[in-house]
Amino acid sequence: MKHPSRKAHIMKLLLLIVVIIGLGVSSCKKNKAALEPAPIEEPKPTTPNDTGTDPSVPLKEVKLKMGTLTSSIANFKPTADEALDLLSKVLSSQEFKDSIAKYNYAPTNQLSTPRQCSRATNLNIIKVNPLSNRIDGTMVHDDLLKYKDVTLNLVVRDRGEPTTVMGSSSFCTFTITSNDYWLKEDDMSMTLAEEYAIHLGHELCHILGYYHNTHPDTKTEDVSYGIGTLIANVLWDWSLKEIKKKTLHSYLLDNSNWRLRCLAVEPAEMKQSGKFDNILQQDIANTKAAGRSYNHFYFDFNPPETQRKNGSNVVFGVTTASGSYWVEHNYYKMEWIDKNQGTFKFSFIANNGSGSATLNYSKNLRALFENKTFKMIYSNQKGPNGRVMANFICVEDPEIFFYGKFERKWINWF
Ligand SMILES: [Zn+2]
Repeated sequence: MKHPSRKAHIMKLLLLIVVIIGLGVSSCKKNKAALEPAPIEEPKPTTPNDTGTDPSVPLKEVKLKMGTLTSSIANFKPTADEALDLLSKVLSSQEFKDSIAKYNYAPTNQLSTPRQCSRATNLNIIKVNPLSNRIDGTMVHDDLLKYKDVTLNLVVRDRGEPTTVMGSSSFCTFTITSNDYWLKEDDMSMTLAEEYAIHLGHELCHILGYYHNTHPDTKTEDVSYGIGTLIANVLWDWSLKEIKKKTLHSYLLDNSNWRLRCLAVEPAEMKQSGKFDNILQQDIANTKAAGRSYNHFYFDFNPPETQRKNGSNVVFGVTTASGSYWVEHNYYKMEWIDKNQGTFKFSFIANNGSGSATLNYSKNLRALFENKTFKMIYSNQKGPNGRVMANFICVEDPEIFFYGKFERKWINWF
């Protein structure tokens, strides 16, 4: 049997690439949207369609529907249904319309190859603002809301090999294919349906003709990443509004919200102030004097059994580093003083075996936490998507307080 020449082999490969591009398949690296902090924007005190809408200019709406669904994840349909519903609501919302109008993107919606399917011919319209040579956010908004009903075919698959590609899309068949490795609730700061909705929004931009190109994959240059970030921001604003309908301590009383487990402060990133900062700085100075960096302090309000001792129910920890990373665990019993007001106290049970020098790194904070009464309320500080921010306040002297971000877990701590 004759083997094809090297040249013929290369030609075949080139032909395959052209065919793939011609079929309108576009693949995407891991979406950074949900991993990035929200841009600095004032949170909008609105819910969909209730304020800020000129009634004479009705909001356009889009309803995303499921065509076919093939999934390697069992019982994925309810998640997919919820994601399509969430994405439809976000894209049709006043918040999304207002946000997108503030952005413009690199001009990448000009497809270089002829369309091979009539639907795509309809959809992929070359739009660039001739004055700026940029794609205005309002143009992307028009495209996303061009049709009242959009039917998407969804495929969730096991790629069968390691990959960092989250998914791909085909504009001819309106198919969005997602690799299942990242669709795990445990890995997420937002819910599975929310994360999938963000991903579908990213891919939908490709279906509408926006492409990754030589421009940076940033939320201010790339349409898909930019829209993914805006969708994540709107979803998180809505989620946070729901969470805040109940007091923070009501969730802690019965550990009923997985987001509210570890309250963490990284002083280098989260500058504290006033009397609390004076106390914290003493611990940081002790750490530096020992030639170590002070990384975080945190409370774990629902530690695993392996981090409970003699009736303790909370861990207070400090992490420091210098060559080796050390997590100091202090086992505390947290007792509610007033469950309605949400006030509580801590009593010290045990330490995880830190030497006397190491105990200096947390000495002043421990003295504070072991001697006063505290409460927690939501903080208005804007944190990364998926993180509830809280103020931790000394009841006896409210000038002593810190703000922190809640984490569902932190790999270094467990
Ligand atoms: Zn992409």
